[in-house]
Amino acid sequence: MQSTNQTGDPKAREKVAIEGHVTPMMLQYLNIKKDHPKNLLFYRMGDFYELFFDDAVAAASALDIALTKRGKYLGKDIEMCGVPVHSHETYLHKLIKKGFRVAICEQVEDPAEAKKRKGVHKVVRRAIARIVTPGTLTEDALLDSRRHNYLVALADVNSQFGIAWIDVSTGDFICQSVNLSTLLTALSRLEPGELISNNKLLAKIPTSIKTEFENYLTILPAETFDSQNGCTRLCELFEVQTIESYGAFSRAEVAAAGALISYIELTQTGRLPRLSNLRQLKEQNLMEIDVATRQNLELVQDLSGDVAGSLLHTIDNTITGAGARMLASRLSAPLMDVVGINNRLESVEFFYKDDAIRDKVRDFLRCCPDLQRSLSRLSLERGGPRDLAVIRDGLNISQKVKALLNNVPIDDLPIELKDMFTDIKDPRNLIELLTKALAENLPLFSRDGGFVAHGFSTELDETKKYRDESRKVVAKLQEKYSVQTNNKSLKIKHNNVLGYYVEVSVKQASESLIGNSKTFIHRQTMTNAIRYSTIELANLEIQITQAGAKAISLELELFDLLRAKILHDSEDIAAIAQALASFDVTAGLATLAREKNYTKPSISEDTNLNIQGGRHPVVEAALMRTGQNNFVANDCCLAGENQNHDARIWLLTGPNMAGKSTFLRQTALIVILAQIGSFVPARSAKIGVIDRLFSRVGAADDLARGRSTFMVEMIETATILNSAGPRSLVILDEIGRGTATYDGLSIAWAVVEHLHAKNYCRAIFATHFHELTKLEASLPRLSCQTMRVKEWKGEVIFLHEVGPGRADRSYGIHVARLAGFPKKTLKRAQTLLKDLEKSQNGKVSNIGTTELPLFNDVFDEDPLFSEAPNIIEDKIANIDLDALTPRAALQFLYDLRDSIGRKK
Ligand code: ATP
Repeated sequence: MQSTNQTGDPKAREKVAIEGHVTPMMLQYLNIKKDHPKNLLFYRMGDFYELFFDDAVAAASALDIALTKRGKYLGKDIEMCGVPVHSHETYLHKLIKKGFRVAICEQVEDPAEAKKRKGVHKVVRRAIARIVTPGTLTEDALLDSRRHNYLVALADVNSQFGIAWIDVSTGDFICQSVNLSTLLTALSRLEPGELISNNKLLAKIPTSIKTEFENYLTILPAETFDSQNGCTRLCELFEVQTIESYGAFSRAEVAAAGALISYIELTQTGRLPRLSNLRQLKEQNLMEIDVATRQNLELVQDLSGDVAGSLLHTIDNTITGAGARMLASRLSAPLMDVVGINNRLESVEFFYKDDAIRDKVRDFLRCCPDLQRSLSRLSLERGGPRDLAVIRDGLNISQKVKALLNNVPIDDLPIELKDMFTDIKDPRNLIELLTKALAENLPLFSRDGGFVAHGFSTELDETKKYRDESRKVVAKLQEKYSVQTNNKSLKIKHNNVLGYYVEVSVKQASESLIGNSKTFIHRQTMTNAIRYSTIELANLEIQITQAGAKAISLELELFDLLRAKILHDSEDIAAIAQALASFDVTAGLATLAREKNYTKPSISEDTNLNIQGGRHPVVEAALMRTGQNNFVANDCCLAGENQNHDARIWLLTGPNMAGKSTFLRQTALIVILAQIGSFVPARSAKIGVIDRLFSRVGAADDLARGRSTFMVEMIETATILNSAGPRSLVILDEIGRGTATYDGLSIAWAVVEHLHAKNYCRAIFATHFHELTKLEASLPRLSCQTMRVKEWKGEVIFLHEVGPGRADRSYGIHVARLAGFPKKTLKRAQTLLKDLEKSQNGKVSNIGTTELPLFNDVFDEDPLFSEAPNIIEDKIANIDLDALTPRAALQFLYDLRDSIGRKK
């Protein structure tokens, strides 16, 4: 996280300030900045947030805006830059993304009030309104509407670790116990926007783990994580005597949850968003997916960090932001509990079967705004009139969705839908109130006024009428003065310094009667114009200002009233928002199943895994996008011991490019989809729940942490061997390829034996070490499978079909040819391959030395690598010269010329 330096030596600064060497405003700035040395200070000056000193230098460079100077401090120029208040969110967004934290300092009194004071005290009072950090954002402009943004706290008590997390923008509040080996798994599931912890705890964590979260870490004092204080804070927050009423939390969990509350209060200057009750997440309720597996399987983003190539992107048919967030959370945390999974599946099935209801629900959701985020903003006193409208519209839509299901007998609804249905209460009074209260066009901020509908408040309507009529009176006065002074171009204008004034051009001033009139009191002479005031105009101004200010203050009162009514019902609104998000996810998954031909999996407690006609959701979708619908479906049966045969490890051999990796990944993805409660891309799927999913598929160098590709591969494999159990699913792709052949083969061999004898897990092991297939004879629970290919007219055709058997070769050189290898290099490789194969059979020992140096021409009998037939020769050889007419002979010549690429 980036930080900015405090400006100069604090003591020297105070001394200079006290001695009056700085302006009163700068003194105020320095005093506020003193408390926020690590944050950029956005110091409000009228319509701008200004930054000074090092803050200005850092922000100007980060935002690519002009750096200017204003006055001097300790003999040096004061650097300054600024951003307009009305568009500051864009700049905030950039700064937060670049790792800065920003303290926003607002003017907390009317400048007119300040002006009335004398000397130093004339400076407008300012105070920090909020500290903007990556984990405490609430503005739509700063957030991705389709992803959660979690603030996570990590605490420890007596060597036990606990994490707690809140999405400040929605109010979700959850905690979990972790240990050193599960910490990263939990963090990778949450993808925190910000993690808070303390140095004392961090000293106990190995550097290899710490580096994983350092870039979003904020360090706070250790006292913030005191479990006793945490308990007190939570009890106060939930107004309970003991936090145990919400669950049997560990002290570390309570410490983490308490730290979150303190941090939010600190950054939100005492305010808290509406929070859900603290829930405890039990690790054993979720499928565990470690960091590497999550990344390798590209669940929520692909390996390059894009969402587009991920599983989430492929299955996401949700319409609302809240639905998308819920789907992403579900995908990150597949369930273990069969009943829970089946409940979700039944809801999806309900919408899958009823096209009409599904389509209608989705139609309603299309107009549904983000209730959760508006509710959170309102509770943090940061919401505006448009958030009120969001609540009105969201609640309205919830009633329409509910009405749709009204026709279905409640007992016919799956249990989860029934719960969602009952969660949607009837907030008719609130909807009516908001409908009556809000005007059609709403400003962003309540302070701008004009958001209360005509007819809602008599007092407001009358004040507005007075204000607006006064404006008409000004127009009449202008007319009167114009006649009175015989000056048609006389204008009454307004600015912040003079208020209302009469303006005429210099020329007209001398020509008209205005100069001699006692009515007009001279105020200002400009280059081209002269400005006057009149007593009548001054009185009118007081009336207008008072009426305008009164109207705004009445509107603000009404805003507070409406906000209070909403917050009073916040629990119901939050439950409705959650139910609508569930509807969205469920109907979205049903749409996916319909459109892409997914089926409902059968989930059980056993260790069976039988997928018939499985497909890779992402590869299939990519093929479809290019107009090809030719993904080859495959079966995968890793039967558990309750089945007739127990072949829980599949050893998969086959050529390069045949589809091994695709098959491995699709099996893992189908299992994940099933356990989040989604239908799956398969003809049928029976899945005994998987507790942990491990994958070692395609690793990259991790040079930043000093790990080579092979080291990464070995670390990931070691984790699997040390952790996989009988309920786990392991997919391994090409273990041992990154080292010398015999080293690699031996490692791969030993790994298969270990998985078979010790881990006892379900596994698919793809390999080019064909020697491993010999293990089938000695390992009873191992089955050899292969990817089928066909050789045809010198070409290898990948059928992408999996079936029992073993591959005898890898066709790597063929793939090299497809990739465009130089011909001679290909031929040389082919020769060497033959040598090597013979040497393995004990026939040749001097590989590559006696025969054919690299660029000698060689004759190759293998049709796969021989030259492609010459089309011209073919044509000439096949022509029947005797049967050729002169005209056909000429045409033949033309054709020949065309076939070598020359046209007329
Ligand atoms: P290598 O051993 O070289 O890593 P591989 O056997 O793992 O290759 P994949 O990477 O899985 O092969 O697949 C190669 C390409 O084949 C994929 O990019 C995909 O487009 C296509 N493919 C794989 N499986 C199928 C399938 N079942 N149906 C259609 N196309 C497929």
